[in-house]
Amino acid sequence: MKKTAVFPGSFDPYTNGHHDIVMRALNLFDEIIIGIGYNSSKQNRYFEIDTMVNRIEEVYKDIPQVKVVVYNELTSTLAKKYDAGFLIRGLRNTTDFEYENTISQMNRYLNENLETVFLITSPQYASISSTIIREVHRYGGNVSEFLPYEV
Ligand code: ADP
Repeated sequence: MKKTAVFPGSFDPYTNGHHDIVMRALNLFDEIIIGIGYNSSKQNRYFEIDTMVNRIEEVYKDIPQVKVVVYNELTSTLAKKYDAGFLIRGLRNTTDFEYENTISQMNRYLNENLETVFLITSPQYASISSTIIREVHRYGGNVSEFLPYEV
């Protein structure tokens, strides 16, 4: 049976840390749906959502197992739509853990067939966060080292 996983997030912007998670997840799943959500508390994006979709699609243009979608509904609903049995999330530290723990319990409650799989960050990406990148970019700093070339 085909194993599909959704990798949900804001991806504002999509970083090398996110890319690393997807490349590693490709060893575990047949298909990865990168879901860019804009229903959360982070409504005011810094980077335009359509631009980010295009850039992420560029990153994976030679990897047909990766799809990029924008969604404005529950992540568990998105997973059902794509027949995905798994959610992928990345963990960098205990703060991520506390947050992710709560979300995964709720997603499990909303869809009992949905299993969240956590991948621990690779050490070289452990301090990359979209929030910090936005801050540095806002004040003119060069952040290209932390982002995939296409982004
Ligand atoms: P959200 O707003 O849902 O937290 P993000 O775009 O910030 O969305 O992150 C999406 C997922 O990627 C989350 O599970 C987050 O913990 C994970 N992630 C973010 N940065 C990294 C990184 N550098 N290494 C590993 N995982 C990461």
